[in-house]
Amino acid sequence: MDTTKQIQLIKDLSNAFGPSGFEQPVIRLYRDAVKDYGDTTIDGMFNAITRRKGNTGKLPVVQLDAHADEVGLLVQAVRPSGLLKFVTLGGFVPTNVPAMSVMVRNKRGEYIPGVVATKPPHFMTAAERNAVPQIAEMSVDIGSTSREETINDFAVDTGCPIVPAVDCQYDAAHGMFFGKAFDDRIGTAAMIDTLATLDGENLNVDVVAGLSTQEEVGLRGAYVTARKVESDLAIVYEGVPADDTFEPDWLSQTRMKGGPMLRDLDTTYIANPQFQQFTADLADELHLPYTRAVRTGGGQDGAAIGYWKGIPTIVVGLPVRYEHTAFNFTALADFQASTQLVNELLRRLDADTIASFSSVD
Ligand SMILES: [Zn+2]
Repeated sequence: MDTTKQIQLIKDLSNAFGPSGFEQPVIRLYRDAVKDYGDTTIDGMFNAITRRKGNTGKLPVVQLDAHADEVGLLVQAVRPSGLLKFVTLGGFVPTNVPAMSVMVRNKRGEYIPGVVATKPPHFMTAAERNAVPQIAEMSVDIGSTSREETINDFAVDTGCPIVPAVDCQYDAAHGMFFGKAFDDRIGTAAMIDTLATLDGENLNVDVVAGLSTQEEVGLRGAYVTARKVESDLAIVYEGVPADDTFEPDWLSQTRMKGGPMLRDLDTTYIANPQFQQFTADLADELHLPYTRAVRTGGGQDGAAIGYWKGIPTIVVGLPVRYEHTAFNFTALADFQASTQLVNELLRRLDADTIASFSSVD
């Protein structure tokens, strides 16, 4: 895929509306982008599974994974004032939510702009100014003046989903994207790029791509895709939190323009060490930058997929600054290094290599 196409794809995916459980626009974009590279089926959770054109049915199956959803909000109830009481879909911390500009999808499927309401500082007591805000006390304001107007005129009520309102920009001079939801739309774009790049190539593995949903609320879609794909090995493309703005150099394990992050450990998973080292050796051979990461927090789809049949799994992380907030940075160079690594990996994998990852000798 050429660079101009990559940039447009990443921007379109970043801008797409798709909090956990409401990923349809992201899935539509994905389905259209991969239509020439395989057959895609979509289930009732909106998980999309693409079986690569040219798969034989006789070779080991590699599952590629990315997740479609982003962290968002969900209307719990309309307050008497017409403001919206909400819960979070995924891991927003309360300090990152107030004053956020948002889009609410109403019952007619229209997008309504709004803002997470805050009490003006003029009215705050000293105690309120210093308090940590609580999600349960927050509201989204869509410019309505009553509960009736919100429900009847704006068509917004319990169950309407909300995401940050951010228009993705690409800074060509610095190769940097600024937008929302790169966790995991940058991984979604990477998976599309891999299918596009390998189109028509003969591989020694069959490739099935699973774009899962509801990752941010507990890897739910990936539990389903793993059972459907029945793979022998999995590669997870995940937008992963960069630590280079707050960790010292020696401890920083995910950096902007530091290349893909190969994750050894997080709270859900341990990478298959042979597969992990094979991938790191390949990155060295290709002179690609990369980092390895041992994390004390976090989790991702690799856990759900790896647990199903005990298959060797790795995570190829694409560094993203300020994940789980409205505004993120991610670098084109990291995207390209990550896809190059995975594409070359897929060209080299075969039955013997995959079997070696399960060897204890
Ligand atoms: Zn993610």
